[in-house]
Amino acid sequence: MAKKLEKCSFCGRDRNDVETLITGVDAHICNYCVEQAKAIIDEDLGSRRSSKYSEIHLLKPVEIKAYLDQYVIGQEDAKKVLSVAVYNHFKRIAQKSKDADEVEIEKSNIILVGETGTGKTLLARTIAKLLHVPFCIADATVLTEAGYVGEDVESILTRLLQAADYDVAAAEHGIVFIDEIDKIARKSDNPSITRDVSGEGVQQAMLKLLEGAVVNVPPQGGRKHPEQRMIQINTQNILFITGGAFDGIEKKIANRMATNMIGYAIDKKRETVDRNNLLQYIAPQDLKSFGLIPELVGRLPVVTYLNPLDPSVLRRILTEPKNALTKQYTKLFEIDGIKLEIEDDVYEYIVQKAVEFKLGARGLRSILEAIMTDAMFDLPSSNTKRFVVTKKYAEEKLSKTSAIHLKVA
Ligand code: ADP
Repeated sequence: MAKKLEKCSFCGRDRNDVETLITGVDAHICNYCVEQAKAIIDEDLGSRRSSKYSEIHLLKPVEIKAYLDQYVIGQEDAKKVLSVAVYNHFKRIAQKSKDADEVEIEKSNIILVGETGTGKTLLARTIAKLLHVPFCIADATVLTEAGYVGEDVESILTRLLQAADYDVAAAEHGIVFIDEIDKIARKSDNPSITRDVSGEGVQQAMLKLLEGAVVNVPPQGGRKHPEQRMIQINTQNILFITGGAFDGIEKKIANRMATNMIGYAIDKKRETVDRNNLLQYIAPQDLKSFGLIPELVGRLPVVTYLNPLDPSVLRRILTEPKNALTKQYTKLFEIDGIKLEIEDDVYEYIVQKAVEFKLGARGLRSILEAIMTDAMFDLPSSNTKRFVVTKKYAEEKLSKTSAIHLKVA
């Protein structure tokens, strides 16, 4: 009698229809069912695992700002506004779980407007570190409307899920920083113009995420396709912080302010408008004039700005933050038993070069690296116990490096 063809006891496929069939005492299982079972176990574990993020610290705004002060220099208004928004966000989460019929507090998603390199990402990252919640950075420029080349908006949540180690519950309390939100602005002021794939469509797609909805997320990112298993994420309690340089928005602010002034009696306060930093007067309608659709602006109710970094702030960034660059270099040398000393005029020189090469705060690191590389190469093999960086030494090392190299770093 011919031997009966073995089948997978779970899906019923014949041995010939599968790649591997594992045989147990009384049953068989095929490679497809093993894969599926693994996915189910992972998801189940993810939702039950006692989360390393489970405890959310509800700090008061003053405490949040004090923490930010340790890492972010200046930007007082942004730090204050952000501290309040984050506090309210977590109060809202706490309230939701208690009283369903009370006044509902709306989400306080945030938009940070400021030149590149002024600390937008740093602010968002520092907040996430403080709160011990998963954090990810997404770039709005790679997103496209479904059906076009690029990434689906949902891929933002894939990153958050990965940052949370696939712990769905933790991801649902995470923080997402969406950079370059200004790059998906509508290119034309006329909304009736033919559809604008890169801009308005993405803004529309993003609304769903921002307002709080259950979204199907491809666990590995990329494009959604029908066979892919999706993980559902509720974005209700995810805090979205968006940022952008909004080049040229000052003009929109100035126009609005000029228009608003017509018809008002000249009032003393308006005479003191600081024309050198119009960004501080940013309001939601300016974002609309810039090309963000009103619905998106409505879902980003907290608007604040970052100041350009002047030389005195750059100087402080070198030495003051908790993980300031100079502290990091001091530590690196210390590990080799070398005491690093940087003379005061070296700091001024580094700042001056960062300004000259228009490198902003990011340039501070590349300049310092250029100055320190030779010493970091040679000194660990020498008997040196003390290394003093003078301005002359810094000039000499930096003269060997071109501005182009500094920009790459
Ligand atoms: P943005 O997101 O605005 O383009 P980043 O937050 O990425 O800028 O800033 C780039 C780097 O410059 C940061 O990693 C940080 O080292 C430094 N930096 C920028 N602004 C500040 C600031 N206000 N205080 C401390 N460091 C800053």
